[in-house]
Amino acid sequence: MAKKFACKNIGLACAFETTAENEEALLAQVREHAKTAHNMEQVDEVTMSKIKASFQEA
Ligand SMILES: [Zn+2]
Repeated sequence: MAKKFACKNIGLACAFETTAENEEALLAQVREHAKTAHNMEQVDEVTMSKIKASFQEA
């Protein structure tokens, strides 16, 4: 099931949106984006649950 994520859905003032074939692939993209765009070398657990909860079907 394809999934999508948008930074604005977790309250970030950021226009980044992405879709992927499944949750694992989407998480990998979100982690990469968090690192490069938001300087989050590690995504903490609270943020990670927010991210996962915000995933929508694409
Ligand atoms: Zn972002």
